[in-house]
Amino acid sequence: MTTQIGHRAVVLGASIAGLLAARVLSEAYAQVIVVDHDHLPGTAAPRRCVPQARHTHVLIERGQQVLEELFPGFTDDLVARGVPTLDNVRDVRWCLSGHRFPQPESGMTVVSASRPYLEGCVRARVSELPGVTLADRCDAAGLTMTPDHRRVTGVRVIRRADGSAEEVLDADLVVDATGRGSRAPTWLAKMGFESPEEEKVQVGLGYTTQIYRAPAPGLGSDLGVVIGPTPDAPRGGALQLLEGNRFLVTLMGMLGDYPPTDPDGFLDFARTLPIPDLCDVVRDAEPLERPRSFRFPASVRRRYERLSRFPAGFLVTGDALCSFNPIYAQGMTVAALEAITLRRHLQRVTEPHPRTFFRDVAKVIDVPWDMSVGADLAFPDVIGARSPKMRIANAYIPRLHAAAAHDPVLATTFIRVAALVDRPERLMSPGTVLRVLRQNLPGPARRAHHPAPDQVNGVNAP
Ligand SMILES: Cc1cc2nc3c(=O)[nH]c(=O)nc-3n(C[C@H](O)[C@H](O)[C@H](O)COP(=O)(O)OP(=O)(O)OC[C@H]3O[C@@H](n4cnc5c(N)ncnc54)[C@H](O)[C@@H]3O)c2cc1C
Repeated sequence: MTTQIGHRAVVLGASIAGLLAARVLSEAYAQVIVVDHDHLPGTAAPRRCVPQARHTHVLIERGQQVLEELFPGFTDDLVARGVPTLDNVRDVRWCLSGHRFPQPESGMTVVSASRPYLEGCVRARVSELPGVTLADRCDAAGLTMTPDHRRVTGVRVIRRADGSAEEVLDADLVVDATGRGSRAPTWLAKMGFESPEEEKVQVGLGYTTQIYRAPAPGLGSDLGVVIGPTPDAPRGGALQLLEGNRFLVTLMGMLGDYPPTDPDGFLDFARTLPIPDLCDVVRDAEPLERPRSFRFPASVRRRYERLSRFPAGFLVTGDALCSFNPIYAQGMTVAALEAITLRRHLQRVTEPHPRTFFRDVAKVIDVPWDMSVGADLAFPDVIGARSPKMRIANAYIPRLHAAAAHDPVLATTFIRVAALVDRPERLMSPGTVLRVLRQNLPGPARRAHHPAPDQVNGVNAP
């Protein structure tokens, strides 16, 4: 269905959030221009302005469902191009709260592409849409407004060519998707608007990533590894298969415990993880690039929905609105869910109203934000208010993980919630709580689950 709300929408930022916003805007605006100050490569090469893309980037199940909804056949296309697919429980060695999960078939099949490749495929799909133009090397420098400051009328841009002067791109709607460094609060403040309240949770997270030639030594038929940091051992890691016969290993540390980038230090760090799987891989695999690091100081949520005054014709989405601790792999999926929210607003065939849009996306953000911030606040040194509900959850989840180590149903239940397929309440359902209690009881009442050989895929469960 094509609706026509306005002549031109301009999206600032051509990364995942901006591209997905452009996808839905193309159903409602005759022209959609997506500007990005980076060079947008024709291939799936990493980009200078999206440095996080060199590190593990998992598109969780819910995000994949939304990409499929927006681009029918997207998953099959990736598979046809040789991108690995995997069952997110059966094929992945999960170790959470120090407990290795069994690996039953879950039916949650996800594609395992590198972030640059995934973005490149989304970009190719978006650039084929009628009316959509991608303008790279084009810096958004500010907004233009009506004299009474009630409405945004366009964007001031500077094309990054020699001798370029500032120019104005008029627009009926401007969407800011410039990521966590968004300057929208400053632009709005200059126009006399209040800045949105910022909620920040300092996690002092560091990633170091190295890419290797596949196959990963010692992984057998498994296709991924996830080791979550715990309050007692704030280090973790992940192994992700990539297109092009490669895989990456990301090591991570919270609260300033950053993984080193030199080979010996990288291996030593891997050696300290609660299961040896990543260390074994790192020791024997063939590196293809030097390790790179990334620092993520804090999760940040900007509360635009709480502002009492906001100009018409301007929206904010993606990391510019909320940037999550990446260890929970939620950012791209939340950006996709925000695009779906925008689409629902556009289907009303009137210009999206900022306040109702921000209110609705706040509801989309609430669950993943509470999940990730709640889990971060299980670390005693992470500063923030701990509600009674959060304290209960943080006492319960490690017990659930312990029980899941012996119960394939619980393992799948937890991963479905983490993949944003099911709501977190599912973890507190009477059936789930009973299974957790049963496994945590001492003595004979505890029903041991001995994973079948095909559930551990040839490796010993701890
Ligand atoms: C280390 C790390 C690992 C992550 N892992 C995962 C994961 O496993 N799974 C997951 O779902 N998410 C993950 N994320 C989050 C994910 O990267 C983002 O949520 C996702 O990219 C959506 O972000 P975005 O499009 O809003 O912003 P970004 O990806 O940051 O892109 C912003 C875009 O705006 C452009 N831009 C910025 N300023 C301007 C300007 N003034 N003018 C023009 N263009 C501009 C930039 O060039 C860029 O293209 C991770 C994040 C980090 C930091």
